[in-house]
Amino acid sequence: MGVPYDIELQLRPRTGGTRWVRCIGRAYTRDHRVVRVAGTIQDIDDRKHSELEVARLAERMTLAAKFAGIGIWEYNHDTGELIWDDAMLALHGLHRDAFPCDFSIWSLVMLPADRAAEENMRLAFADGRADFDVEYRILTPSDEIRYIRNCGRIVRDASGRILRSYGVNYDITRERVNMIALLESDESLRAANASLQATIEETQRLARAAEDANQAKSSFLATISHEIRTPLNGVIGMTNILADTPLNAEQRDYPQTIKLSGESLLTLINDTLDYSKIEAGRVELERQPFDLVSCVREALDLIEPHSRQKNLALTHLFAADVPRTIEGDASRLRQILVNLLGNAVKFTDRGGIRLDVRVDSASADEVSLTFSVTDTGIGIAADKQPRLFEHFFQVYASITRTHGGTGLGLAISRRLAALMGGSIWVESEPGVGSTFFVGIRVPVVMEDALCHHPACLQRLARRHALVVAPPETARQVVHYAQPPSLVVTAFPDAESAVNHLAAGAPCDLIVSDNQLPDMDGLAFARRLQARGLRIPPLLTLNRVGTLSDTTAPRLHQLMASLVPPPAPTPSVASAAGFVRIAATMPLSVLMAEDNNVNQRVAQLTLRRLGYEIEIVSDGAEALGALQRRNFDVILMDVQMPGMDGLEATRRIRAFTGHETRPWIIALTAGAFEEDRLNAFRAGMNDFLGKPLRIELLQAALIRAWESLRPVPLTATTPAPP
Ligand code: ADP
Repeated sequence: MGVPYDIELQLRPRTGGTRWVRCIGRAYTRDHRVVRVAGTIQDIDDRKHSELEVARLAERMTLAAKFAGIGIWEYNHDTGELIWDDAMLALHGLHRDAFPCDFSIWSLVMLPADRAAEENMRLAFADGRADFDVEYRILTPSDEIRYIRNCGRIVRDASGRILRSYGVNYDITRERVNMIALLESDESLRAANASLQATIEETQRLARAAEDANQAKSSFLATISHEIRTPLNGVIGMTNILADTPLNAEQRDYPQTIKLSGESLLTLINDTLDYSKIEAGRVELERQPFDLVSCVREALDLIEPHSRQKNLALTHLFAADVPRTIEGDASRLRQILVNLLGNAVKFTDRGGIRLDVRVDSASADEVSLTFSVTDTGIGIAADKQPRLFEHFFQVYASITRTHGGTGLGLAISRRLAALMGGSIWVESEPGVGSTFFVGIRVPVVMEDALCHHPACLQRLARRHALVVAPPETARQVVHYAQPPSLVVTAFPDAESAVNHLAAGAPCDLIVSDNQLPDMDGLAFARRLQARGLRIPPLLTLNRVGTLSDTTAPRLHQLMASLVPPPAPTPSVASAAGFVRIAATMPLSVLMAEDNNVNQRVAQLTLRRLGYEIEIVSDGAEALGALQRRNFDVILMDVQMPGMDGLEATRRIRAFTGHETRPWIIALTAGAFEEDRLNAFRAGMNDFLGKPLRIELLQAALIRAWESLRPVPLTATTPAPP
């Protein structure tokens, strides 16, 4: 019979390599020995390689599925048997013993809320769809919720009958959790965004409301200040007039007291108004060239009566190199200085007060100046100093009660200094005294007259200049500075220049290197002051730049700017004084003003200058008056009932022949820069604040006279008498 065999083995053919073969046949034995073999050998090399390849692929797949945590299932549609591999069981946290091997397992593991997925699978099987892909959550026996993705495929035979399905499951919990977190954060971001938007809108609304409130506050302040200033204007103006009438010795004191009280009330109103304006960001500083020395002297003049009353020495010193003309807001600078000087007098009982001005640095167009006010008063404790510049801060309540004060002065000064691009600070020792410093950086400007180079040379003619510098620099200065007749003498140091000056040598100005070789400008001034000598102006060369043919004109300009202009030939203006300028400057003047007291003040003040004026009480009447006769000047109140000053001016300017004449001077208690601008925009020519001051009114009338005077066709010089 023989023993059948069927084996697959690898042969090594002589041609090399190996080949798989299948041997099928029978082996015949006798006495347990094979005596004959009959069968076939089939070359199965290709098939065997394919099978091995498939096995290897399957192994790799299983490995990949295992490491990726992918479970594989298979469902037999004929028998209803479901097979899960180990990874499937691990995914679902199940033991093989507990696995029911049929479709019902899915309804057991899925969360009830996600059962629709199972329904989908069933439908897919029923419809015989090719593929399905569902997602659901399961609850593991350890009560853990996992997200599962289940992708399946249905396999049919050649006739289209469904044979079985198989598919893969994998855990997508991490992606889903991340996605949900992302959606939630997206949601919370959206919510945050919405609330941010709401906050922005609310803030804008509040800002608008604040702006409105601010506007309302400012205009309220402007109105209140106008309302208070108007009667005060009457009080002060009438007092001045009263003081000019014949009074006995006792009576003379009364108007003086009324005037002082009125003026201090005015200061209080101005301070409060000023502070509110600065706080509301409505202060605009002027940028006008002004004479620094005069500005400082005016501040000192205002304080001098008070220091004299307390027997305090009031001294001041300009460093020799302080430029005379700078650009900025003179009245605001004066305001700061008056406040510091006023405080110094208020808080000092013995000794004196000194105001120094020095240059910290200088360039071609700018200088850094420091003003310092030093007193020998009660001083300020170190722990109080940082709060000094806050509003309404007062160290000594009792002194304030006796000497007055609003606690606003330093707060205003600090803000003004900041508006000037500078700062304010203090050094003080209780019982010894205080020094308040104000540092500002300002452009240096030239008098208009000196923009013309020949005018500079003319002004420098026959002047004496000292050059204090090392020999090389001195030689250069002498070379470039010497227009034909400027007399230049050079010295190597300031000390020898001081000795030269002490010997009575003439000197109009000093030119030095970037600073004097042996002392600074303030020390130099102090040395001369100590010896009772006049302090000549000092020009430092850093304001010129490197000396060359190109910069020489600037050197001349700067030198000329330090030398006072030749005494002017007496003009109408300077000869006039405060009285009766009307004699030399006849002008017909109309005044439009509704307030009786103000009308009277203006009338009497103008009478002192020699003018008789016509008065009307509103804009419409002013237009009427102008139709009856011509006027050279109109003093136009801005706020009037009926037609106000701005409207009246616009109408006057609209008449042919009235485009430039009459000269219209705005008269207003309004203190804002806007008021000025509005007046000029309406066509007015000048602006005067109330209360009316005779010297300002006179200056304004002189400007009117100068402007209205016809320009002569040929220049004429008055013939000498
Ligand atoms: P006030 O109008 O009260 O003087 P300021 O703002 O000018 O307001 O000053 C605030 C406070 O700073 C003063 O009340 C005083 O306590 C203190 N102070 C200012 N200057 C001096 C000074 N030179 N010496 C001592 N204390 C001063």
